[in-house]
Amino acid sequence: MSAKLIDGVSLAATVKSQVRTRVVELAARGQSIRLAAVLVGSTAAGELYAQRQGEGCRAIGIDYDLTTLPATATFAEVSGTLKRLSNDPAVTGIMLHLPLPAHLDATELQYQIDPVKDVEGVNPANIGYVFYAHTLIAPCTALAALELIQSTGTNLRGAEAVVVGASQIAGKPIALLLMQQMATVTVCHIATRDLVEHTRRAEVLVVAVGKPDLIRAEHVRDGAIVIDVGINRVKNRDGTSRTVGDVAFEQVREKASFITPVPGGVGPMTVAMLLKNTLRSAELLREIQNSKFKIQN
Ligand code: NAP
Repeated sequence: MSAKLIDGVSLAATVKSQVRTRVVELAARGQSIRLAAVLVGSTAAGELYAQRQGEGCRAIGIDYDLTTLPATATFAEVSGTLKRLSNDPAVTGIMLHLPLPAHLDATELQYQIDPVKDVEGVNPANIGYVFYAHTLIAPCTALAALELIQSTGTNLRGAEAVVVGASQIAGKPIALLLMQQMATVTVCHIATRDLVEHTRRAEVLVVAVGKPDLIRAEHVRDGAIVIDVGINRVKNRDGTSRTVGDVAFEQVREKASFITPVPGGVGPMTVAMLLKNTLRSAELLREIQNSKFKIQN
């Protein structure tokens, strides 16, 4: 059996088109959506990513402002910027580009973003809402993984799901969202004694580690749905490099029923989920202004 590819590019295009339709509707009523991104330290990769992000936003009618701070910016300076944006009524969404210079604590800074404007779903309040199954804004990569799984039409209720990797940004929130869907979830991490023992039981296997070829054919149950979150650059023999995931794609696709490619799977869907969350932030703010909705502390 050769697995069907889950086409993240095409699914992401559908999500973006839906977001665009709603953004246009809101604009017609005079409500604009503005994503404010903060980049600390100027690297070519960071600036290119921010530039592409700006293009992606504007293509669907979302305004995009980038604030660039020097790599020497203090915690108070970055924190002050995030607080200012949180209090600016014209800004409907905020994101802090990572990685940050070593002297800055990303988690402490993410605390400073208004939870309703936190389009990446990284403020602890938002993780807490996911935990209590009252999701306000969930982390984009976790939402992307769930959307990709659900695009296969599988019923997650009672399904054996295994998540490999337990980071705050990927593995843990993915596990929480799968539990919300009533899957039976196992989370594997660096201390897991016998990885194969767990992964080969999985009807749904999500891998978010950052190690090429960690998951091979022997790790995978026949007919499993495999979602590869990993992004790794590896060298080819001729000295060029390419992007691969954590799953040995060619051999695993012979056992799985569905598999995400890397690139072209979780990555583009994560970008689409950021735009969807940006729309959600704007809609939540409007509901709060109309007093239909209250954030509970
Ligand atoms: P991370 O913070 O380094 O977390 C990796 C997780 O994997 C940790 O929980 C780690 O455990 C665990 N781990 C390490 N080696 C393991 C092993 N041999 N077996 C089982 N678990 C192991 O990385 P991350 O931010 O979650 O990212 C993971 C990968 O996903 C990276 O390749 C990243 O580039 C990619 N990513 C992709 C997207 C996307 O949009 N496609 C988004 C986010 C991340 P310990 O912490 O205990 O060592």
